[in-house]
Amino acid sequence: MTDITPEIVRKVVEEVFREVLGNQPPAPVSDGIFPDMDSAIVAADAAWRAYLDCSMKDRARFVRVIRDVALVPEHLEYMARCAVEETGMGNITDKIAKNRAVAELTPGTEDLTTEAWSGDDGLTTVEISPFGVIGAIAPTTNPTETIINNGIGMLAAGNAVVFSPHPRATKISQWLIRELNRALAEAGAPPNLIVTVAEPSIENTNAMMQHKLVRLLVATGGPAIVKAVLSSGKKAIGAGAGNPPAVVDATADIEKAARDIVNGASFDNNLPCTAEKEVIAVECVADLLKFEMAKNGAYELRDPALIAKLEALVVNGRHAVTDWVGKDAWRILEAIGVVPPPGTRLIIAEVPFEHPFVRVELMMPILPIVRAKNVAEAIDMAVIAEHGNRHTAIMHSTDVNALTRMAKRIQTTIFVKNGPSYAGIGIGGEGYCSFTIAGPTGEGLTSARTFARRRRCVLVGGLNVR
Ligand code: NAD
Repeated sequence: MTDITPEIVRKVVEEVFREVLGNQPPAPVSDGIFPDMDSAIVAADAAWRAYLDCSMKDRARFVRVIRDVALVPEHLEYMARCAVEETGMGNITDKIAKNRAVAELTPGTEDLTTEAWSGDDGLTTVEISPFGVIGAIAPTTNPTETIINNGIGMLAAGNAVVFSPHPRATKISQWLIRELNRALAEAGAPPNLIVTVAEPSIENTNAMMQHKLVRLLVATGGPAIVKAVLSSGKKAIGAGAGNPPAVVDATADIEKAARDIVNGASFDNNLPCTAEKEVIAVECVADLLKFEMAKNGAYELRDPALIAKLEALVVNGRHAVTDWVGKDAWRILEAIGVVPPPGTRLIIAEVPFEHPFVRVELMMPILPIVRAKNVAEAIDMAVIAEHGNRHTAIMHSTDVNALTRMAKRIQTTIFVKNGPSYAGIGIGGEGYCSFTIAGPTGEGLTSARTFARRRRCVLVGGLNVR
């Protein structure tokens, strides 16, 4: 008996196609992965031109396809597991939650609303219309989340998108782009609406930033890439670094504040740019806060020698040591010789305000706690610790005046009151979800309407029925 080999299967399939289609081999479905940036962008440009002929109903259908691909339970699990394995960052459970949130809560075509004026002189509309090909740069910290989130918003607005994933997230990003292309082709979308290159690199990102067919750049990442897109000479949206402070004052519900802060700061091992990166607590509640945090999976490092050892391990000058970014709390503790109790998901340490744990965006489950004399001093400290990023801040307080003062002083894009930081991106808080939060360029939490041009259409002397 002959074994059925892949070669035999291929021959049988070819034979069947020959029978059905005459001698025409089936056209290959593009998987969206191109050998170089130029061919990826040229293909995306052709896709965008074909996409112009699709209806809004078609667009809504394609957006649904992206959501459906992401929400297949095996896909959610696979994306989370592979991203953790490939990047060495984060944890599977929370990555599943993040991918689910972007797939379910990113706005689609309903985000594109038309403005209109009508009167004696006729009817004028402003419609939200596509840029064309968008170059989108994604971070290691949310690789698939950013592709799903930007993919939905950018396609909903009628664009095609070329992704430049982080080189350390190549495999999982390409897997997702292949799956999306396969499913979009099945749904009848023009091929190559979502593309990337075989070998993501800084050189390829630079080629993308300079390419004449790319009409808009969207960078989700640290300060270097935001500066690079803003210096490109093209229209650019920059979603940059944060260092979110969480202020706790004497009027707060301390039990709840402690739980919210541990939940937010340990979410995906502190990778989200929105996650609590330092706590500033007024003196009179600091001890109770730490006590309550310990009940929720926080482990307090008290020994100054161990805190110094931890600092030497995870901070290098003004930067976090990449090898420790997004690692589990217990793993970090074990590396300094501490065996934490089971269930430990966050390391807390009381430090002075000038400490590097406060100043450096660590993106790991280490949360410094600083004492302030009163709420006014706590707010002053929070403003300094946030570094003027205008990204995210959190406050636990029931004093409306204090909440208002903090919001006015800190000027962040997201300000969460009495909740975990992720409530600010629609996870357990009202509002839609985005993983591209454009503080530097001011678009805020991006969505379809952000990735679009406003175009005025004027009809003179008619169509007004008032
Ligand atoms: P990163 O800046 O190292 O990388 C982001 C992307 O930019 C990657 O694709 C990388 O290859 C590319 N890149 C970086 N420097 C470049 C350069 N000089 N030229 C060309 N390409 C370059 O960031 P990361 O470590 O992957 O992600 C974490 C950072 O991103 C944190 O600072 C975090 O706060 C920020 N972030 C911000 C948001 C937001 O919405 N504002 C969301 C996620 C992450």
